[in-house]
Amino acid sequence: SQRLMEGKRGLIMGLANDKSIAWGIARTLADHGAEIALSYQGEALLKRVTPLAEQIGATLKIECNVTDQASIDALFATLEEKWGKIDFVVHAIGFSDKSELRGRYVDTSPENFRMTMDVSVYSFTAVARRAAAMMSAGGSLLTLTYYGAEQVMPHYNVMGVAKAALEASVMYIAEDLGKHGIRCNAISAGPIKTLAASGIGDFRYILKWNELNSPLRRNVTQEEVGKAALYLLSDLGSGTTAETLHVDAGYHVVGMKAADAPDI
Ligand code: NAD
Repeated sequence: SQRLMEGKRGLIMGLANDKSIAWGIARTLADHGAEIALSYQGEALLKRVTPLAEQIGATLKIECNVTDQASIDALFATLEEKWGKIDFVVHAIGFSDKSELRGRYVDTSPENFRMTMDVSVYSFTAVARRAAAMMSAGGSLLTLTYYGAEQVMPHYNVMGVAKAALEASVMYIAEDLGKHGIRCNAISAGPIKTLAASGIGDFRYILKWNELNSPLRRNVTQEEVGKAALYLLSDLGSGTTAETLHVDAGYHVVGMKAADAPDI
């Protein structure tokens, strides 16, 4: 089979466990010959990350908390020292206090608003700037977003506002870095049962609703997000930048519940 990532090296941020979207992406890229460095949030995650890193032959595992600029600097200093240059970065990180992923958006606290924007939006910009400095031969940046940026989804609240800002930042980063041969895109994934998703109110209902009402009448898998990431990060995506690509079984075009969809 074709190895679309042969000779490419990159960083994947946001691996927590084998349910993480980052894991679906990491496996697909590794199958296609990519050499991968993983960053993880804190020492507590290392025991989960280590066996996964071994499975994909990832030798570099680096701790990084994106709320700390010094921690992001240290991550890129390590990459610079070990590799010198990189070809891609995957940012699969988002966080908000789960007590505010239910109830009303209008009740969002200023502290959680700032923290959510910092972790889920600014971190991608901070990473993009440092990654670009290691992409003298061009590269590809990728982040993960959700439909709650475009339309109101129940309980998504401040995270929807953050994802809208993240999608806007993808456009601005794409313009800033495009002249250097660096592409920047987002994948808008349909709902997938992960650790982060379990913090969202009524998540099982959202999953079921999407399964019954998306054009494909099912949910998507981590592997399907991985395949779309492969397109955007490999030469297949060479003409695509500033894009938010939906990998959501088509749900984003649905205006109303289909007549044949059973009631939940
Ligand atoms: P996950 O819980 O597996 O991953 C979230 C990751 O964010 C974790 O690895 C966590 O350690 C990391 N993180 C949180 N705060 C951090 C910090 N301060 N520093 C460093 N890392 C931090 O869940 P996931 O669903 O795989 O989430 C990955 C991305 O996909 C997120 O941006 C999420 O919003 C997005 N997304 C998820 C879905 C879904 O339904 N699961 C749908 C669309 C988009």
